[in-house]
Amino acid sequence: MEMHSLQDLMVDQLKDLYNAEGQLIKALPKMAKAASNPQLQQAFTTHLEQTKGHVERLEQVFQTIGQPAKGKTCKAMKGLIEEGKEMIGEDAEPEVMDAGLIAAAQRIEHYEMAGYGCVRTYAAMLGNKQAAKLLQQTLDEEGKTDKLLTDLAERVINVEAE
Ligand code: FE
Ligand code: FE
Repeated sequence: MEMHSLQDLMVDQLKDLYNAEGQLIKALPKMAKAASNPQLQQAFTTHLEQTKGHVERLEQVFQTIGQPAKGKTCKAMKGLIEEGKEMIGEDAEPEVMDAGLIAAAQRIEHYEMAGYGCVRTYAAMLGNKQAAKLLQQTLDEEGKTDKLLTDLAERVINVEAE
């Protein structure tokens, strides 16, 4: 792909995020199934629903720039999910498994936060207020999920895993 402008770069990064979110929609149910703690299961299930909303927001963002919503394989998300699968395949005590699932999920959330932070800034710099707002909304949800996972890890799971 030829990249001449910040808008071209933004489209490229949106495609990466669009594909990454799609991969997550498939992975989150497996993570929820592998979790034992009901609050952690709930956190994964809730974030699955939010993730479907992230895909919709990305489609709206593509619309604001007159581009078709298309993905481009996000290799990093593939790797992060692969690591989550590795954890699921371990023969671990339930509490240890939960702590490991949280660690995998937080890596994913931080990766998404980095991606959304960048495209949100590009959108703002390009004067696309609508896109900047939509991307900020998703960034906020990713951040809240990350914080919820930290709280869960500190309050229940890591303590039980010790
Ligand atoms: Fe997301
Ligand atoms: Fe997320």
